[in-house]
Amino acid sequence: MVILDVIIEYAASSLNRPFSYAYFGKEKIVPGVRVLVPFGNKKIIGYVESIKEVDLSLKDYISETGINVKEIFSLIDYEPILNDELMQLANDISSYYFASKISVYQTMLPPSLKPKLSSLTKPKIAYDVYVQVIDEDISDLTAKQKELYQRIKEYGLVLKKDLKTTLLPKLEEKNKIRYIYKEKTRLIQEEVKKVIDPSLNEEQLKALNEIVNGEDTIYLLEGVTGSGKTEVYLQAAKKVLEEKKTVLMLVPEISLSIQMVRRFKSRFDNIAILHSDLTSAEKYDEYRRINKGEVNIVVGARSAIFAPLKNIGLIIIDEEHVETYKQEVSPYYDARKVALFRQKYNPSCKIIFGSATPSLETKIRALKGLYRQLYLTKRFNDVSLPETEIIDMLDYHNIDKESVIFSLQLRHEIQDRLNKKEQIMLLVNRRGFAPHVSCRKCGAALICPECNLPYSYHSSDNLLKCHHCDRVSFIPSTCPKCGGVQFSKVGFGTEKVELEIARLFPTARVLRLDSDVASIRSATGKVIKSFENQEADILVGTQIIAKGHDFQNVTLVGIVLADLGLNIPSFRAAERTFCLLTQAIGRAGRSTKVGKAIIQTYMPKNYVIYDASIQDYNRFFNEEMLNRKLGQYPPYTYCTILTLSSKNEKDVIDSSIKIKYFLETKFANKKVDIIGPSSPFLMKVNNKYRRKILLKYKQYNDIYHEISELIQYINKDNKVEVSVNVDPSVDY
Ligand code: ADP
Ligand code: ZN
Repeated sequence: MVILDVIIEYAASSLNRPFSYAYFGKEKIVPGVRVLVPFGNKKIIGYVESIKEVDLSLKDYISETGINVKEIFSLIDYEPILNDELMQLANDISSYYFASKISVYQTMLPPSLKPKLSSLTKPKIAYDVYVQVIDEDISDLTAKQKELYQRIKEYGLVLKKDLKTTLLPKLEEKNKIRYIYKEKTRLIQEEVKKVIDPSLNEEQLKALNEIVNGEDTIYLLEGVTGSGKTEVYLQAAKKVLEEKKTVLMLVPEISLSIQMVRRFKSRFDNIAILHSDLTSAEKYDEYRRINKGEVNIVVGARSAIFAPLKNIGLIIIDEEHVETYKQEVSPYYDARKVALFRQKYNPSCKIIFGSATPSLETKIRALKGLYRQLYLTKRFNDVSLPETEIIDMLDYHNIDKESVIFSLQLRHEIQDRLNKKEQIMLLVNRRGFAPHVSCRKCGAALICPECNLPYSYHSSDNLLKCHHCDRVSFIPSTCPKCGGVQFSKVGFGTEKVELEIARLFPTARVLRLDSDVASIRSATGKVIKSFENQEADILVGTQIIAKGHDFQNVTLVGIVLADLGLNIPSFRAAERTFCLLTQAIGRAGRSTKVGKAIIQTYMPKNYVIYDASIQDYNRFFNEEMLNRKLGQYPPYTYCTILTLSSKNEKDVIDSSIKIKYFLETKFANKKVDIIGPSSPFLMKVNNKYRRKILLKYKQYNDIYHEISELIQYINKDNKVEVSVNVDPSVDY
């Protein structure tokens, strides 16, 4: 008999340990395959971690060990679903982020391969069926069959479905033909015309040379928007491919991967694409193509960092500062960190972090010499950075009664660009129509009952939506507080701005891109392409439109309200806003025409807005580092957030106090700050009450054992759930 140590598909931390199952089958089992097992009275999927032969009967084994071992139902895979590197990588991630192994596997694998019951109904390999002739002697065929036989023979290999005949079974029966199954990939990749590598300018050449020939292994390529970083990536990739190694190219989100894929395709073949806008079938096919070594370049968003590429020579993380590289749900991994883990298994692998506005953490590492700093200081071909103008929206000279959203200046500039047939981008970092709906009689806002936070109003489907738990609701006929029957929609989001443009500039063609639009499959690509082809004059959108895009005909960027991100209670609020504004401004005037950016704000003197308006990263960096030092936030410290949650408010409060005490005892002799328990910004989500405890420390080793113990301690108690978020990108 064989005893299998199996981890099961449930991700609860209390189940994060192997369970033993017996196996009597004939097939050889290896670690890393999936099995169908009984658990309680359910049938679920398990992942085999290790295997041991035992010379006992099941009955004897049970009585000897006292463990009630059950037999597995069946074996699902014959080969491991993860290769050695990825299995070790899962270990590293699970350990560093205190995440259950199974949750890491679920994250790493495409839906069809996840160790999860639902994977069994997900797409399987698809085949194209071809027909080929075998026997030369056709004397025993009818005339019609002979005719078909000749036709197939002529082609050599024909797609079965192209033959449009019912005679094939007869030919097969008589052994005249055979079927050949070829795996097919379902993702239809767009054809892109090849271009030759342009020659690089001096700064680009220097950077490329350092990356290709330098001794260092991690590089920060800091280059202003439009300075030609992507061109450096492409040519570095070329060198790596020439050495028969592979390349992993990460971009922060789907909309950018579309443009990046196109640029890679203009130079290389054998590219796989991985991002969440693919269907399960497409993901599965792309995954298998990579696994079989059919491609040597992978372009994708965050989870593409798990691509099963072998022999990686280069990992590029473009727009390195963007927070989407950090997954803010379990297993809370950061692709930038995972890249460093992968480098350990691929010792000759180099990493490039690229950005116009590096995260403070990355920049400080470069300043300290841990990463090699490279600069591109000018826009390519000396195109100048856009001219910027800050508009104080509290100054009545700038507004008239025609519009409260657009200042006179912005309206004037929009009209000017429309006249010149140049394009305009308007950044509104809030989706929906209005962020609040309140009763006209008592003033109370309509709130989400699960989260206690205001609902946003969305006009496209005339619904209230909670941006924290995705709950939707109709506008009630009467106010739940006072019975009033009229409501006002307060403030504005992308939908309202779109409407405002239609009112002020009725002939302008407008497109909108925010996560509501992007939630429809392929919509992002369509909008980007259509704007690129100049089928619209104005693109309105959230941060999705700000990053990385290279639209040649955009000469005006309007930031409708620059302050939106500054009031978020997070130590990263200033940094995020600075990056967003700088990136957005950088979308203007990228080819020969000079660009302009209009920044509307209620805080014209705020340093973040000022620094962004003069595109001065260093000035911002120095000012913000002072704030971080004062508050003792990263990069001066490291943070981990513990979030406790339960449907029962008292349980959360009681547990949080107990946990604080537990941690205080554990950290008595260490320099770890324990802040809280406090109410997070989202006090209640999905009907669960929450408390948070923030830990600040100087080195990770100071917390590793203590948090591991804490998780054990909480599992025993089992009254609350705890999530551990190491190096969080948000702290509310
Ligand atoms: P970044 O990635 O830094 O924003 P890009 O690589 O997109 O910058 O470059 C900005 C523009 O300049 C693009 O249109 C790109 O094609 C062009 N460009 C960059 N480097 C070169 C080069 N060496 N020769 C010709 N065009 C270049
Ligand atoms: Zn909610």
